[in-house]
Amino acid sequence: MRKSKKQQKHLLSVLLIIAVFLCLILGILLIIRKSGSPETEEVLIAETAVESESQIPETTEEPTSETVTETELPEGTVTDISLSFYRAFMHTDDEDIIPAVRMSPADALDLSAVWESSDSSVARVDENGRISPIGAGECVIRVISVSNPDVSAEITVKVYPEDEELPQPEHILCDPVQEVSGVREDIQVIGGITYVNDIMLVNKTYPLPSDYNPHGMTPETEEAFSALRAAASEEAGLYLFSHSDFRSYDTQVYLYDDYCSDYGKEEADRFSARAGYSEHQTGMVIDVNWPGDAFNDTPEAVWLEENAWRFGFIVRFPRDKEQFTGYKYESWHIRYVGKDWADKIYHSGFCLEEYFQVTSEYS
Ligand SMILES: [Zn+2]
Repeated sequence: MRKSKKQQKHLLSVLLIIAVFLCLILGILLIIRKSGSPETEEVLIAETAVESESQIPETTEEPTSETVTETELPEGTVTDISLSFYRAFMHTDDEDIIPAVRMSPADALDLSAVWESSDSSVARVDENGRISPIGAGECVIRVISVSNPDVSAEITVKVYPEDEELPQPEHILCDPVQEVSGVREDIQVIGGITYVNDIMLVNKTYPLPSDYNPHGMTPETEEAFSALRAAASEEAGLYLFSHSDFRSYDTQVYLYDDYCSDYGKEEADRFSARAGYSEHQTGMVIDVNWPGDAFNDTPEAVWLEENAWRFGFIVRFPRDKEQFTGYKYESWHIRYVGKDWADKIYHSGFCLEEYFQVTSEYS
């Protein structure tokens, strides 16, 4: 028994030593694990950080959202508006004026705008930008982009009594921008024919196919010219007639070659078009009465210049616009573009090339 008690004691102490030893090893192992794997700590910290962040309101992230609004306007947003003039001097009884409006980029989705006058007792403006003088004074006409109300442009309008002399011409034109940037939604080429909006465009840059042949004046042109002639007769007692209107591609070949041999190519290019580049091939052009410089400044030419737009025509190559049209002044050459466009182009003070920002140059 004694012996067995002794043995039992011995066994217990051995067990105790083993237990203590095991505890020690466990402790060491734990220490080693903790110091040897710092990632676990970081993961833990990160996890708690995520938790606490999600509780913070999103407004603290302002810096990122600011940079987004600065650089990323929705695609197709208008970023700039320019006008054909920014100052206008008018008499109370003057005709309306309509500035040409150019929105950038040209392929913006919504090119609509609203117009407002700072003082409707001086000048009124309608939804198309038509400015009408009302009474003497000064006001500001403003045009604002609908898609981006931060973008606007202003015209200072001064209206003078009928008997007072204007300090400067009616509207002061700005230099047109000749560069065409981006995709032009308003320019389309269909079957080799270029259209700007719905206007068939023919000049030194944009020719017609040689086989394009309407065989005479278009019905709209003919009808409009009849109305114009009747008005000239009734209103001013003037007799207007078509000296020449439609010319086929082949006719133009003869004509141009003739002019070249008589005047030389350089001079001929100032007043006659190469075949395919003549507006007469459209059937929408009329040379009125007597084509030639002698017609300039005649009562008939003055009447045409002031009234052709009422019937849908524009004097296609106005005075001092050769750098844009590519042709010297031709008071007799009128082009049918329809009443709406004729009204807008005439009252903008721009020629067609300036108005639609297109070139007229042989390549
Ligand atoms: Zn002509």
